[in-house]
Amino acid sequence: MPEEADCDYVIVGSGAGGGTLAARLAEGGKRVVVLEAGGDALVAPDPGLSADYEVPAFHSLASENAEMSWNFFVRHYADEAQQRRDPKYILDKGGVLYPRAGTLGGCTAHNAMILMRPQDADWDGIAALTNDQSWAAASMQKYFRRLEECRYRPLWRSTHKVGLDATGHGWDGWLPTEHPTPTAVLQDKALLRTVLESALAYGGRPKHIAKILDIPAWLVASLKLGMKLSLPGLIVAIVDFLVDSGLVSKLREVAVNIQSRLDDQLDPNDLRWPGDTGGLCYTPLTTRQHTRFGTRDRLLEVQARFPDRLRIEMHALATRVFFDDTDRACGVEYLKGERLYKAHAQPSYEQGERREIRASQEVILAGGAFNTPQLLMLSGIGRRDTLEPYGISVRRELNGVGQNLQDRYEISVVSRTAKPWAVLDGALFNTSDPLYREWARTKDSIYAVNGAALALTKASRPGRASADLFCMALLARFRGYWPGYSKEIATLHNYLSWAVLKAHTANRSGFVELKSADPRDPPAINFHYFDESSEDADDDLAAVIDGMRTVRRLTANLRRSGILAEEELPGEHLQSNEQLARFVRDNAWGHHASCSCAIGPVEENGVVDGEFRVHGIRGLRVVDASVFPRIPGFFIVCAIYMIAEKAADVILADTSR
Ligand SMILES: Cc1cc2nc3c(=O)[nH]c(=O)nc-3n(C[C@H](O)[C@H](O)[C@H](O)COP(=O)(O)OP(=O)(O)OC[C@H]3O[C@@H](n4cnc5c(N)ncnc54)[C@H](O)[C@@H]3O)c2cc1C
Repeated sequence: MPEEADCDYVIVGSGAGGGTLAARLAEGGKRVVVLEAGGDALVAPDPGLSADYEVPAFHSLASENAEMSWNFFVRHYADEAQQRRDPKYILDKGGVLYPRAGTLGGCTAHNAMILMRPQDADWDGIAALTNDQSWAAASMQKYFRRLEECRYRPLWRSTHKVGLDATGHGWDGWLPTEHPTPTAVLQDKALLRTVLESALAYGGRPKHIAKILDIPAWLVASLKLGMKLSLPGLIVAIVDFLVDSGLVSKLREVAVNIQSRLDDQLDPNDLRWPGDTGGLCYTPLTTRQHTRFGTRDRLLEVQARFPDRLRIEMHALATRVFFDDTDRACGVEYLKGERLYKAHAQPSYEQGERREIRASQEVILAGGAFNTPQLLMLSGIGRRDTLEPYGISVRRELNGVGQNLQDRYEISVVSRTAKPWAVLDGALFNTSDPLYREWARTKDSIYAVNGAALALTKASRPGRASADLFCMALLARFRGYWPGYSKEIATLHNYLSWAVLKAHTANRSGFVELKSADPRDPPAINFHYFDESSEDADDDLAAVIDGMRTVRRLTANLRRSGILAEEELPGEHLQSNEQLARFVRDNAWGHHASCSCAIGPVEENGVVDGEFRVHGIRGLRVVDASVFPRIPGFFIVCAIYMIAEKAADVILADTSR
């Protein structure tokens, strides 16, 4: 290592990409410095913050906790009249809230913790693009196994020790996964009926539904019979009897064992899960003992083991990459100080102290889909016409930097319930309520759940090779992100929102561009939704509408049986395709921003090659959500963890050559 270098690798960002990679490189014997703009949520002065971080049910509060949130305001449209039709649009900010976490762990510190493996086609697509079979799904699977510590499949967890494992799960990795089913759910009659009736209306098989709730299959079968005979009274009577007599809870333990073999049909991370083409599923969470676990925790564990190898420099806002005489990236300039980035919920107006970190081997950017392209552009890498207006001299012209930005389209069908959910009785979503104390004491609490009661996947039209819709029932009023959205979730306990996520969107017309040369200013972001997209907008729009119609079918019985009082959004008065399309255009949002520095050849606007190297620049890689050519899977974080594990392999192999 040259005398003046501080480390082998400097990594900007400690989120899903950067945190995973840094930990693995340090374990691999490398000296790593992580530059992270934020601080550690658990040592912040606000005592509520640690609960917001740790308690699964508080994740929306975490995303709005002023200590760690970076609030981007993004446009969905260039057309101002269309943009203003979105009730979430904040005029004086010029955009719609897009929460990000500027903290140790990045967005893994506030996300909803859902871990779902991407679909095989996502990886096979990159393999074809790069002509590199190490990207093929069969090869990428080893990274999932390497990172996961599955804690919710006890039978296979035991048998894998003697070499028996058909699941594809990892058992000894660093990322714990759990599937909570709190007992309280079985005591809320309305909730039980909501899950049962919705799942039956979807066509779910009784044994699978029974497994989701860990209740006996005959109970679901008799409810199905009641529905068939149009005897809602029978359903109510059975549920009431079983809940009141306490039988549901008693039978549960037996059911858990009998039905564990059904997990392969419901567990989205089991290789045999049929939901790639559509079906019910549960949503595994990245928690350890029902407490959030993310790259913050991973990094601190590795740092404790290898204090000499892993240095985490917090409150360090990277401002540009710098280069040596041979044009090789050799370090990062940063500003030392708290809350320096102006997207911070409470930005500081201090200038920060200018410092540098030098790396003997490489600089790796992992600031996320908005910040990585910003940092590349600030370093003179990007489209000439977007750099020169800000006086930034072009080091390497790469037209793809900040282009190709992609996301899901999401929408909610929001219904008010006749009565508040019993499971949320007394819930204040803070540390002073009994549900919190129950979570802290036993972890068998509704607070162990992230709010999702039931989930399913579906192909939006016949002929699609795989499912492209993910629908999830939330016990909350959730209609996207806007300042204060988390308070609504915490205080209103009489809502059911079916969130619809459109995966594999066609739209790739979004962009991230500089608004100024000041590294503390957030960039301009526009996703160019639907008609502004250069791709097939109709297919995306039709798919979202299909998702809304699907979940409406699931709530129809609940309205008839009086559990739901009224559909508030989009509202029953909107029925035609045209009306629903208007609603979707005006209200959709996303939260899996990605693909803004894509893998691919330069002539196709690629920014990095299949080994994460920035084209035409030595010593510089990108490892985060930006690198996907197309947005992967239903939920993105698993794919990011997996590419970061792959990047560690690639980098360690490079140094041993
Ligand atoms: C509200 C919400 C809920 C979500 N829930 C889920 C979910 O349940 N499941 C799922 O799969 N995905 C979910 N996601 C998405 C997922 O968590 C993110 O896509 C993922 O964490 C992105 O990983 P990343 O490494 O690209 O960036 P991040 O995790 O955002 O990490 C980037 C890090 O870089 C730091 N940084 C940025 N710029 C600089 C700079 N200049 N200098 C120093 N540091 C810098 C940031 O502070 C941050 O810590 C959610 C996202 C949101 C917003």
